[in-house]
Amino acid sequence: MPFNSKIFQLTIPTPFPVGSVNIYAVRGPKGYYLIDAGVITDEARKLISEWLPGPLSGILLTHGHPDHLGLAGELSKSNNCPIYMNSDEHRRSQNPSFRQRVMAVLMQKGGVPIALVSQVIESHQNSVQNFFSEFEVKKILPGQQFTTDLGLLEAIYTPGHSIGHCCFYISESRILFSGDHILTSISPNPLLDLTMDGSRRLAYVEYLNSVNKIASLSIERVYPGHGPAIDNLERVLSKFYTFHAKREKGVLAALSDQMKTPFEVAKKIYPGVKDLDIFLALSRVWGHLDLLEKQGKVLCLEKDNLVYYCQP
Ligand SMILES: [Zn+2]
Repeated sequence: MPFNSKIFQLTIPTPFPVGSVNIYAVRGPKGYYLIDAGVITDEARKLISEWLPGPLSGILLTHGHPDHLGLAGELSKSNNCPIYMNSDEHRRSQNPSFRQRVMAVLMQKGGVPIALVSQVIESHQNSVQNFFSEFEVKKILPGQQFTTDLGLLEAIYTPGHSIGHCCFYISESRILFSGDHILTSISPNPLLDLTMDGSRRLAYVEYLNSVNKIASLSIERVYPGHGPAIDNLERVLSKFYTFHAKREKGVLAALSDQMKTPFEVAKKIYPGVKDLDIFLALSRVWGHLDLLEKQGKVLCLEKDNLVYYCQP
């Protein structure tokens, strides 16, 4: 493929269930731009320092999850270069306990029994690193551009997977760095979330809009945050839309007899689900319920601080 020689890629193992993560470097006029910053482990520190093709002039973060934010603070200090990141993502990364509070509140509202909620929170605590660190961040704006050897690299705002996720697009080279927005082997699951003011984010609805945004771009190759490069974006997207339609049907069918909480629907679709997967399954199902509600195919009712859905 063309341009490969100008893109430096490193794959780093992580302690998370997702497996390894990719980071990339492309050359700019005053040094390299790093896209994502791996994970906070000694192994990642060593791998990155051996791999870096030259001094950095900026660190561009797709989002603030610990396997992407990783060593950004340290690398920014040692290279004396700024970190660019969406401001909502930055705020979240400064407040790691927020996610667990969000999980607890939404699981209870979605009908997960309290004992299970505690179990899920515990397994989440065990699976995340303490990734909080103080560092200066420059706010990245949608459409912001950076000059590189491959052409102008543009930040494309793609919320969904996380509140302020950004992809980076080089139209001249028809290349997209997709973070966790587009992946081949894992279906990116927009997790249940609250905005900073406490209202529920319609993460899956946002995600679908962001997928459509990417589908409208001319792209030859996608460099994702996990897994190999994608040269057949159209096929990956069409697989995603098929999967989406199948799951939507399943969620509707689960509501055919009576009204149910999102957790009751999740148990029908993912029987035997446990631990952290409960939150993932709940996020998937609730995302579809949000979308179906927007389309007028289901109704939402609230009773005793629990949310129920039914067919109209
Ligand atoms: Zn992520």
